[in-house]
Amino acid sequence: MISFEPLLSAIFPKNCGCCGDSFKEGLSNVLCRPCFDSIQPYGDPVCRHCGIPLPAGAFEDAAQVRCRDCGDGPYFLDKVRAFGPYAGALRISHHAFKFEGMESLKGDIAAKMVQAAPPDFWEGVEALAPVPLSPERERERGYNPALLLAQELSLKVGIPLRRLLFKGRSTKPQMSLSRKERLQNPRGAYQRARGEPSLQSVLLVDDVFTTGATLEECAKVLKKGGAGWVGALVFGRTPHHTV
Ligand SMILES: [Zn+2]
Ligand SMILES: [Zn+2]
Repeated sequence: MISFEPLLSAIFPKNCGCCGDSFKEGLSNVLCRPCFDSIQPYGDPVCRHCGIPLPAGAFEDAAQVRCRDCGDGPYFLDKVRAFGPYAGALRISHHAFKFEGMESLKGDIAAKMVQAAPPDFWEGVEALAPVPLSPERERERGYNPALLLAQELSLKVGIPLRRLLFKGRSTKPQMSLSRKERLQNPRGAYQRARGEPSLQSVLLVDDVFTTGATLEECAKVLKKGGAGWVGALVFGRTPHHTV
């Protein structure tokens, strides 16, 4: 059988959005595999509230430490892990996945998220709960990126997915707002989904951690509904709270 692939590649060469080289095998048509594979995961120690790396050493119990920006809290989130910094190849793959309709990247992204979590991260977690979009926004986009990632993670780690939360109203995209607005924006937007049980230990799943305001709000709703421990796992982490 004649293959049209070489002809198609010649007419429509795929160029990596990161290194610029043309490629055959990669993530859809946006990134070559070496660029995606080169994204470096955060190593320990990381801030337990926002997942950002901390200077190595000098901690008695690094698992309990928060960064200077997060300070002492109080917080509803008990632990956050992010795969890596929201920049370069990570940012390009995320943008294609979230804003350009490339749902097929979910498997590759979820595989990186699994790498972000140390083995004991999953211990005792009863359900993975995606951060919901409002029904209006989900219709507009056609899918909820956090839900797709949670589905993939559930398959990979064998923890059930439950849509524990519901978002009643649309909020402005967090990335379009100032830090002060981001902290206010998600307040009161989330509720517990009707008919879902009250679980003790829940891991929220989202694509990016920016200020953490959305995840904090979701954790607050779950804790007020009876949860004792709420963590979060995300793909990208913006480098500073001020970004
Ligand atoms: Zn590349
Ligand atoms: Zn922090």
